[in-house]
Amino acid sequence: MKQETKCIQSGYQPKNGESRMIPIIQSTTFKYDTSEDMGKLFDLQAEGYFYTRLQNPTNDMVAAKICDLEGGSAAMLTSSGQAATFLAVFNIATAGDHVIASSAIYGGSFNLFNVTMRKMGIDFTFVEPDCSDEELEAAFKPNTKCVFGETIANPSLVVFDIERFAKAAHAHGVPLIIDNTFATPINCRPFEWGADIVTHSTTKYMDGHDVAVGGCIVDSGHFDWMAHVDKFPGLTTPDESYHGITYAEQFGQGGAYITKATAQLMRDLGPIQSPQNAFYLNMGLESLAVRMPRHCQNAQTVAEFLENHPMVTWVNYPGLKSNKYYERAKKYMPNGSCGVISFGVKGGRKAAEEFMKHLKVAMIATHVADAHTCVLHPASSTHRQLSDEELIACGVTPDLIRLSCGIENVDDIIDDLNQALASIQ
Ligand SMILES: *Cc1c(COP(=O)(O)O)cnc(C)c1O
Repeated sequence: MKQETKCIQSGYQPKNGESRMIPIIQSTTFKYDTSEDMGKLFDLQAEGYFYTRLQNPTNDMVAAKICDLEGGSAAMLTSSGQAATFLAVFNIATAGDHVIASSAIYGGSFNLFNVTMRKMGIDFTFVEPDCSDEELEAAFKPNTKCVFGETIANPSLVVFDIERFAKAAHAHGVPLIIDNTFATPINCRPFEWGADIVTHSTTKYMDGHDVAVGGCIVDSGHFDWMAHVDKFPGLTTPDESYHGITYAEQFGQGGAYITKATAQLMRDLGPIQSPQNAFYLNMGLESLAVRMPRHCQNAQTVAEFLENHPMVTWVNYPGLKSNKYYERAKKYMPNGSCGVISFGVKGGRKAAEEFMKHLKVAMIATHVADAHTCVLHPASSTHRQLSDEELIACGVTPDLIRLSCGIENVDDIIDDLNQALASIQ
C-alpha cells in the first residue's frame, strides 16, 4: 500500500460486522478462563493482553499503523515524545555506557540526556551535525551504545545527514536512533537511509490538532543484536527479571528491541499512552498524508514572502535556495520538510515584541506543528530571563520569531504577517 492508504487502513482491518473505526478498549485488565492461559502470557509464551500498562489492543493498532508508515518491524506507543526518547535510548544504554547525540536536537531531548540521564550514570558526547569525519570518529568510545539525531531539528531546522551517521554508527557496531517528529514518515523514512530505530513525539504533526500528548518508538528490525553479543547484554543474555528470557533469541531481530522495551521498561517505569489518546492519535494519522504537503506548501510560500520583506532581516527554512541545508533537505525530504520557519525582524527584541502584538491569525503558543498557525517570540516569553548576550550564546537571537505554518489558506497567513510587519515599520 502507498503511504496515503496506510494512513487510513493500516493497523486495523475490521471483520464482518465489526466497528468501522478502531475500538477504544478502555479497560485496565483482560479476563482469562484458566490460570494456565494467563501464565503463558506472563511467560511471553503466548500473545495476548493481560494489563494495559504492558499492552492494550487500541494502542497496538495505532502503533502498527505508525510501524507500517515507517516501514518497521515492531512499534510501541508511549505517553509522550519525551518518554519515547528516554525508553528508546535506555533500552540499550545503562549506567556506565556512552551515547553520541547530535547537538542540534529538541531542547527537551538535550536536557533529558545532558542532565537527567547523566544522573543515571550514562555519559553523552554531543557532536555538531556538520562535524568533520575525524571529529565524529573521535566521539566513539568502547562503551558507546548508540548514536542519536533528529531528521529536521526543532527549532533550529538543521537537517541531519542520516546516511553518513548511520554508516559511522554501524562501523562501530551500534544502531542509529532518529527522532523523526518534524518530517513524519510522509516526508522522510529514516530506515531507508540506514537508521535502525525511529522515535516520534506524536503530539506534533501526527496528532496534528492539539488534542493529545503522545510518543512512539519504531524498530526497523535491521540491527543484528546477536552480532554484538557483548555490547547489548540486555538483549542477548537472559533477563533474570523475566524468567530468564533472552529477547534476541526468543523474539528475533525484528521483535527483540520492542519486546524488551515493553516487557521490561514499560513494566517497571509505566509511561503508557491512554487508549483514548491513541484513538485521537489515530484520527490525526488518517489525514497526515493530506496535511503534510499543505503545511510544507504554506511554509514555502510564507518563507519566500518573508525573505523578500524589507522588515525581515533573515529567514531560516530548508526549502529556501539560500538555506545552508537546501540540498540536504532535497535529498532526504524531496516533497518538503515541515511547516516550521524561523526569522528575524528589523529592530531586534523591541520590534519583535511589537510585531507579536499585532498578529491576529497566527496564535501565540509554545506549541508547533499542528493545524493552527502559531507563533512564538522566545526572547519575550520562554527565554525572557536571558539577556541579549545570553540569548545569542544559546542560539536564540533577540529578534528570532518561530512561526509554525498551519493548514489555513496561505493568503490569510501572509496578510496577517504583512499587516503586523507594516505596523512596526
Ligand atoms: C515536542 C518534541 C519532543 C517531545 O515530545 P512531547 O510529546 O512533548 O513529550 C521530542 N522531539 C521533538 C522533535 C519534539 O518536537
